[in-house]
Amino acid sequence: MGLDLEFARRQRVERSVFPEQDRLVEHCAVFGVYNKISPAAPLIYIGLSSLQHRGQETSGIATHTGSHFATKKGDGLVSQLYTKDDISQLSGSIGIGHNRYATVGGLDDHAQPVTTEKHLVTLAHNGTLPQTHLLETFLTSHNVAVDGLNDSEMMQRVLEYHMGNGHSIEDAIIQSYSLFTGAFSVVIATEDKLIGLKDRFGIRPLALGETTEGFVLSSETCGIDAVNGHFLREVRPGEMVVIDANGVKSTQLAQGEEKLDIFELVYFARPDSILYGRQVADVRREMGKELAKERKIEADIVIAVPNSAIPAAAGYAEASGIRYEPGALIKDSYTHRTFINPSPEERIAHIRRKFTPISLVLAGKKVIVIDDSIVRGPTSKELVHMLRNNGASKVHFISASPPVKYPDFYGIATPTQQELIASYKTHEEIREYIGADSLQYLSYEGLIKATGLPEEKFNTSCFTGRYPIDIGEHARRINFSV
Ligand code: AMP
Repeated sequence: MGLDLEFARRQRVERSVFPEQDRLVEHCAVFGVYNKISPAAPLIYIGLSSLQHRGQETSGIATHTGSHFATKKGDGLVSQLYTKDDISQLSGSIGIGHNRYATVGGLDDHAQPVTTEKHLVTLAHNGTLPQTHLLETFLTSHNVAVDGLNDSEMMQRVLEYHMGNGHSIEDAIIQSYSLFTGAFSVVIATEDKLIGLKDRFGIRPLALGETTEGFVLSSETCGIDAVNGHFLREVRPGEMVVIDANGVKSTQLAQGEEKLDIFELVYFARPDSILYGRQVADVRREMGKELAKERKIEADIVIAVPNSAIPAAAGYAEASGIRYEPGALIKDSYTHRTFINPSPEERIAHIRRKFTPISLVLAGKKVIVIDDSIVRGPTSKELVHMLRNNGASKVHFISASPPVKYPDFYGIATPTQQELIASYKTHEEIREYIGADSLQYLSYEGLIKATGLPEEKFNTSCFTGRYPIDIGEHARRINFSV
């Protein structure tokens, strides 16, 4: 969800609480179910659980009961939010769900799916529209109030406007598509249809699967697996997929160009998901192997910052011949959100709670520790400190991706550029800051090589500053020569 209006509104409210937070974005999961007869909600619940890693702050489900949309939305994890009763009250065989991971907590006034009392259409969005002025202009000129609406809500209002004027949902989408200026992988439900829609660059993933009862749409293929579905294919950039009683119909709304966000492969997606035909864990393992070719270090053990860096560490170990030690750093799976928190102190406290170094394993060892990325730096700094305190004689830190120098504007929560450590410190300064004996990054070329695909297939903006979708005004705040 988005910036502009939302940014301005919340900035006033939140600045004093989150002074370092200069913009508010979020990353999310979407899931949609079209069943012939059985209720959709139980499958949406399972799908959202498997996509919990994409959003842990709010969750929501909307189903069409035959007369209206029943919705349940709120703060917290999927397993905490919904009761059995909630799921059974969400009747109807078509519905969608959403998990949200906002940079600012406790604000559920924009939890999705987005619906209104007109009960014509509901929408859930993964991505961000960095610019919304076309949507605003359209809505305002048609007397639809935009005050306080975020990008996802505006998208829903435009569709609802057209449907209110007698258009089918397909027509409404076709007429509105050019107003959706940004990154979006969207699921939409009406009384009798489930729809998947992607921006023309396909920045965020969205996959189509088949079940014994119908079809599902899921941010990642792991959601399809979770409901015992069969992965058919990814929704294509610029494509609208309409699922109804007649099956699946595809319409290309804009000429697509594949530019999946490479950070999905680096950090965001679940390791068992398939993106561009490759299992994410496999690509991460290749990143580790590339690292071992590029960065040769003398050490006793290789360890991963769990969980995202485990495949890369295993790949590094395999290619370097240095033993991978899975028991050196244990992650508490029940601690969430170390990344975006109100204060640096709180973030560090979270990191300490989240990771436990095992001194029995570390004592006297020269350790290579691999994480998927270094963003602001405190995680790496704290980990190095913890490893040393627990007996490691040397700590060599490796990032399985290149330095992150540019913020994301397409739906992943990243801090401002000024907070990205690689944008204001040299390599040696970062090494010194995190306190490691050495610091290495996977090269950009190595990262691309590990994907096994051409560079053009990706949005690489966080590493290169090349933004495939216009970021408008935001570009003025970016230093492109870091
Ligand atoms: P930092 O302390 O800011 O350098 O954070 C780096 C850590 O955050 C790494 O362990 C990554 O796994 C994790 N990370 C990277 N990007 C994100 C993101 N967009 N949201 C949450 N965690 C992230």
